[in-house]
Amino acid sequence: MAKQEDVFKTIIAHAKEYGFVFQSSEIYDGLSAVYDYGQNGVELKNNIKRYWWEAMTMLHDNIVGIDSAIFMHPTIWKASGHVDAFNDPLIDNRDSKKRYRADVLIEDEIAKFDDKINKEVAKAAKRFGESFDEAMFRQTNPRVLENAKKREELHTRFSEAMNANDLAELKQIILDYEIVDPISGTRNWTDVRQFNLMFKTEMGSTADGAMDVYLRPETAQGIFVNYLNVQKTGRMRLPFGIAQIGKAFRNEIVARQFIFRMREFEQMEMQFFVRPGEELKWFDFWRQTRLKWHKNLGLGDTKYRFHDHEKLAHYANAATDIEFEMPFGFKEVEGIHSRTNFDLSQHEKYSGKKIQYFDPELNESYVPYVIETSIGVDRMFLSVFCSCYEDQNLGNGDKRAVLHFPAPIAPVKCAVLPLVKKDGLPEKAREIQHRLRFDFTCQYDEKDSIGKRYRRQDAIGTPYCITVDHQTLEDGTVTLRERDSMEQNRLSVDELEAILKEKVSLNTLLRKLL
Ligand code: ATP
Repeated sequence: MAKQEDVFKTIIAHAKEYGFVFQSSEIYDGLSAVYDYGQNGVELKNNIKRYWWEAMTMLHDNIVGIDSAIFMHPTIWKASGHVDAFNDPLIDNRDSKKRYRADVLIEDEIAKFDDKINKEVAKAAKRFGESFDEAMFRQTNPRVLENAKKREELHTRFSEAMNANDLAELKQIILDYEIVDPISGTRNWTDVRQFNLMFKTEMGSTADGAMDVYLRPETAQGIFVNYLNVQKTGRMRLPFGIAQIGKAFRNEIVARQFIFRMREFEQMEMQFFVRPGEELKWFDFWRQTRLKWHKNLGLGDTKYRFHDHEKLAHYANAATDIEFEMPFGFKEVEGIHSRTNFDLSQHEKYSGKKIQYFDPELNESYVPYVIETSIGVDRMFLSVFCSCYEDQNLGNGDKRAVLHFPAPIAPVKCAVLPLVKKDGLPEKAREIQHRLRFDFTCQYDEKDSIGKRYRRQDAIGTPYCITVDHQTLEDGTVTLRERDSMEQNRLSVDELEAILKEKVSLNTLLRKLL
């Protein structure tokens, strides 16, 4: 465990050192759980957004985008249920004065049983080698069975308490399982209370009577309240989707794990409107489609898993998370929810406007059902960053830190490097950079030895380095160095554009989706 924590610390340090992610307001000692993206981070983030946006809107005839405002009429949040129910159960430890999410403390306890089971399995796998039958071992080993039983007991009790919103029972679980505060090590807990996660502010001057407004905790409601506008002006026919990328704000009680849980973050959400009764078919479609989008990046198929929800929101009839294996375990990156007609019906009720679709095939009007896909840009960024980072040992004591980003989303696509800073090589390199810069983010670097420059580009994940040497002046050829293999090939400058286009353009990635 400690080792994984160290890896994560190294990754966070690297993200800062190479201009990917900075703590917000750092010179004022920072603002908790708020982060800024630096010069390389913003490029990676924009590329991730573009990959999502284009996969949604360009590859589907029936999905269009919008960009709704962050401020919305406060009644929207009453209708959506956020004012009354967007709460987390919190608990304080009287000794450390720290606040925790009661559900997270219990989930961590459940994960301990999983850890114990996995350790038994790993130990046995090592002992039995090739002949190890993992499924059989899990079904028969007494220690595994004992832990699985305990896990199930806790899990059932926890789910029931959460479903019933039973705060006293959540506290009792924490006491019964002797869960201690990781900081003080004590069990001196307060009662569990509900805490609303929405940020509130005021709009208008107080003399006119200011109105309380909220910073949106999700982008989805901006889509729901524009459903009619888009359906009518775009003459959309069911099934169709509306996509949106934008900031969301949640006053998270426990903000931790770097950009995994932030108070200001960005979401990419798509609401897909369907005929009632067809929602589970579409739920399944989007479950598969979204997983394919993730796997298409090539970060490793085994790093993903679905986590189907047992505790469904009262309006949902199916929900699953796509989880990614972060250095701190499998964690939710995206949620896919079948939300029935809850949101649109609520907005009908609270606004007094009819929000329906006339289905020409059925010759009737109804409130459409909705499948939502909701992914956090920052969590996606973190999963890409963590899985691409490598502290690579090159032998002979030589090492490099490298980010193996999929080329189409790398912040910088190529770097043009004159071998030396004289003999007309910088001028030639500048000329090549100028040819490429209209299609690719392209850096020029002439400082330090060529080896050091390669390392700098490896550290920010640049897939290709183009080196200009004396031979370039004679025959118009350069060397193209590939980041992962570090192989160098000599080719003509005229071939560069075509090769780069094939390797680094987003098209290459998008084409594999269809
Ligand atoms: P969690 O259980 O981790 O709090 P959630 O189930 O509340 O997440 P949703 O409301 O389904 O999350 O939001 C959809 C997506 O938005 C999540 O899958 C995640 O990627 C992202 N997200 C939610 N909260 C945060 C946050 N505080 N910081 C960064 N990303 C977030």
